[in-house]
Amino acid sequence: MEAGEDCCVKVAVHVRPLINDEKVQGCKDCVTVVSGKPQVQIGAHSFTFDHVYGSTGSPSSAMFDECVASLVGGLFQGYNATVLAYGQTGSGKTYTMGTGSKDYYQTGIVPQVMSVLFSKIETLKHQIEFQLHVSFIEILKEEVRDLLDPSSMSKPETANGHAGKAPIPEQGSLSRATGSTNMNNQSSRSHAIFTITLEQMRKLNNPSEIGLNDTMNEEYLCAKLHLVDLAGSERAKRTGSDGLRFKEGVHINKGLLALGNVISALGDEKKRKEGAHVPYRDSKLTRLLQDSLGGNSRTVMIACISPADINAEETLNTLKYANRAR
Ligand code: ADP
Ligand code: MG
Repeated sequence: MEAGEDCCVKVAVHVRPLINDEKVQGCKDCVTVVSGKPQVQIGAHSFTFDHVYGSTGSPSSAMFDECVASLVGGLFQGYNATVLAYGQTGSGKTYTMGTGSKDYYQTGIVPQVMSVLFSKIETLKHQIEFQLHVSFIEILKEEVRDLLDPSSMSKPETANGHAGKAPIPEQGSLSRATGSTNMNNQSSRSHAIFTITLEQMRKLNNPSEIGLNDTMNEEYLCAKLHLVDLAGSERAKRTGSDGLRFKEGVHINKGLLALGNVISALGDEKKRKEGAHVPYRDSKLTRLLQDSLGGNSRTVMIACISPADINAEETLNTLKYANRAR
């Protein structure tokens, strides 16, 4: 399928720069971003996506403008959407989403979305009544936990957006499960989902003139935007850990596997037209995102990759997974 507006899943790649750890280990940059094209090369492999953001310049604002801004606009028209950050641990998913602690919450997607939302609401609030809710949850081993209420292991309640934009992702990300593996001692084994629900009530002009009663003179719209920092995509065997970790790895892969199947079913126009089965129910992750994947919803997957040669194998896996989504 050609890259374009009519495809329901857009795929972008975000290549982060080499980090200090990698430089100290003497790693070489093995990923090439082809200039002027949304194309990446690694070894003999070449992949084309909707967008590719390299490690130079300031990709975060371009990424937001090209991949996310229209989804925020769509919320005001009642369209649901999902943004997914995919990639191995350490590839820059949390940096990209802005769901980590202070140092990167300025430029990440979540804070930029909140800031655009608040300013749009500010300009429209005289015509439209808004209610904004946010929730921040984590899925670990197929269990859901509310990150805004770390004492709870049960179903999340939504938190009110008026509580303030900055502290919410930060508070939540501090309570996110991390475990020590060979890959990274702050490895995130869980999926973190930041969800914004926007409700609008528009008053229609002069309802009495067109003969509507009180309950009919209002238009109600509700839409959701899920911003997802997925679990690390590295394989369970690479964590080289005990049986418990392996089990977690299997569960994590269950969500990522189901997501890959759902997205490739949605991206396959022929299958979609035939009304083929989309396997949403195969994991908690896909069940939770079901209302915002497919149908009229817009989906953006951002595949995050490290340029370091030691990660070449995982980088190739990530690019293949992302390629399947198109
Ligand atoms: P992940 O969430 O995929 O495990 P992180 O977002 O935590 O990865 O990123 C791993 C490290 O790389 C962090 O130290 C982070 O600050 C750094 N990093 C990630 N993306 C970028 C980027 N685009 N520019 C600079 N540093 C980055
Ligand atoms: Mg992370």
